[in-house]
Amino acid sequence: SKREGFSTIPDTTWAHVGALGPVRRRLEMSIIGPIKNPDLFTKVGIAPAAGILLWGPPGCGKTLVAKAVANESKANFISIKGPELLNKYVGESERAVRQLFARAKGSAPCILFFDEMDALVPKRDDSLSDASARVVNTLLTELDGVGDRSGIYVIGATNRPDIIDEAIRRPGRLGTSIYVGLPSADDRVDILRTLYRNSIGKKGGESTVDLEVVARDRRCDGFSGADLGNLMQAAAQACLERAYLGLVAGQEEIMMEGVTIDPVITMEDWEAAL
Ligand code: ATP
Repeated sequence: SKREGFSTIPDTTWAHVGALGPVRRRLEMSIIGPIKNPDLFTKVGIAPAAGILLWGPPGCGKTLVAKAVANESKANFISIKGPELLNKYVGESERAVRQLFARAKGSAPCILFFDEMDALVPKRDDSLSDASARVVNTLLTELDGVGDRSGIYVIGATNRPDIIDEAIRRPGRLGTSIYVGLPSADDRVDILRTLYRNSIGKKGGESTVDLEVVARDRRCDGFSGADLGNLMQAAAQACLERAYLGLVAGQEEIMMEGVTIDPVITMEDWEAAL
């Protein structure tokens, strides 16, 4: 996996993202379009969003869509987890924040992605330490500095928008909030097919199982995209175990005939995974 804080254009495209149509359209209008066709957007008086806050439950694709936005914009992507900027000596965190923006400027066009933003910009109330408050202020100052045409677009992600300092959501900062929620049953079908197509499906076999039946199963109610990914892993694991145990049981015969196995994930495997 890519080193944290390292800037490069990610491989993730919209083809890796299932469902989330409305989220995708808003990101296209607010970031991708303005980067790719700046004149078209400025002509009608639309300035690109300085920054966007993606919020919603874990595992529903916030990081995934942020990467796809960078890929589709042909922009570099710098990703940093909020807490990583914090566990530093006094004064070091502010310096790290400033360095991050400086690096983004050097890599423009660049998407600067802050995961777990709530850890970095908690509400500045009485309980907040001076050190943390200084980090919040530094981040706000840097955000104000990446105005129009700087080529830096900031995307923040959080599961807890309620504990974030409200000043960060002002226009000109992360002025646009987009909700990335749990998938519906229809969404799950699209996500599971997308996950399958981009992993197991790429290595050959069509699924002999109707993935729609799996994704619509009541036991998948409340599943996130990440949960569906884990389910698919578990089904693949069950398939391998079944194939391997069969191989061991029939070993002599197989060795004599030189048979190789071609594991196919069956409904039995998905059942085991569920
Ligand atoms: P967190 O809040 O925990 O950081 P997140 O919302 O950023 O979660 P991601 O890291 O983007 O979630 O998603 C985790 C994984 O789940 C993805 O790498 C992908 O495999 C799968 N996934 C989630 N949502 C989708 C989706 N809509 N389409 C395809 N895969 C998805």
